[in-house]
Amino acid sequence: MRSTVLCFSGLDPSGGAGLQADIEAIGQSGAHAAVACTAITVQNSQQVFSFEATSKTLLLAQANAVVKDLPIRCVKSGMLGTTDNITALSEFLQQHPDYAYVLDPVLVANSGGALGDQATLVTAFRALIPLATIITPNTIELRALTGLDDLNQATAKLFDLGAKAVLVKGGHEPTQDYIKNTLYVAGKVVSETQCPRLDGEYHGSGCSLASFIAGRLAQGDSIENAVQLAESWLFGVLKNAESPVVNGQKIPKRF
Ligand code: PLP
Repeated sequence: MRSTVLCFSGLDPSGGAGLQADIEAIGQSGAHAAVACTAITVQNSQQVFSFEATSKTLLLAQANAVVKDLPIRCVKSGMLGTTDNITALSEFLQQHPDYAYVLDPVLVANSGGALGDQATLVTAFRALIPLATIITPNTIELRALTGLDDLNQATAKLFDLGAKAVLVKGGHEPTQDYIKNTLYVAGKVVSETQCPRLDGEYHGSGCSLASFIAGRLAQGDSIENAVQLAESWLFGVLKNAESPVVNGQKIPKRF
């Protein structure tokens, strides 16, 4: 059986982000995806209307059911929705210290809609930071998590909070023609990658990248290799993204 990533993520009915993005990206990385669903959202490619979070008990029951019979090597989290779910995941990870863990600190959808109460999520995420093999914030999330505007200081603060590796995604920075991502391990820059900025907005790009990284970590890659493979895979997927019928964010074509 293929190495498995257990995702803690929410359902996005558009299929662009959330657990569908995770399943597709992890499948493309060569691993198998299992999912403990954290929330059901109501959204399309343009906006988030609402969501209902899974209870802590139901979330843990899903996760504990599959640890018994799947070769889980890595956990990946995206939308967690509530502090209860963050606590549940933190308890789960402490019971499984041998799993790699990719923390994508989702606070809002790319369309701008809130996927939980930002202030409480930011505080609760602090418990997950030291448990993560790698954290994959965009610069909005990085600033929100640390309360610091300067990106170097904000990244340093994540390491002070116990981070082991951080991939800072530069897609929301005002660079016109390119996007720069920076990978830090143990507080030091180990790689910087730059790719041309593609036109338009994409739904689920962050989920896809973090999940592909998780899939490669599950198969034994180093952090640097996993990130490099995920970045080049994602660029192709976004280049081929499909535009919805009505003006909305593009949906990545992960197959
Ligand atoms: N998880 C869920 C369930 C979502 O609906 C979204 C965005 O809509 C995300 C995660 C984050 O998506 P992105 O990869 O665009 O940051």
